[in-house]
Amino acid sequence: MSNDKPRKACPICGKPTDERTKPFCSKRCADVDLHRWFSGRYAIPVTEDEEEDGRREEPGEKPN
Ligand SMILES: [Zn+2]
Repeated sequence: MSNDKPRKACPICGKPTDERTKPFCSKRCADVDLHRWFSGRYAIPVTEDEEEDGRREEPGEKPN
């Protein structure tokens, strides 16, 4: 009964994923996800090490 592998669903459209394009069902969905990534970077939880280090002096531009 090892033929009953639980296939993950495509996070974009919910269809069963394809081996070639997993975790998506097709390259199109992979593309959509990639686009979301780029357009929604701010929504991704990242480490706040950069925000904590807000005293960094940028060359050429002084914050004050
Ligand atoms: Zn899909």
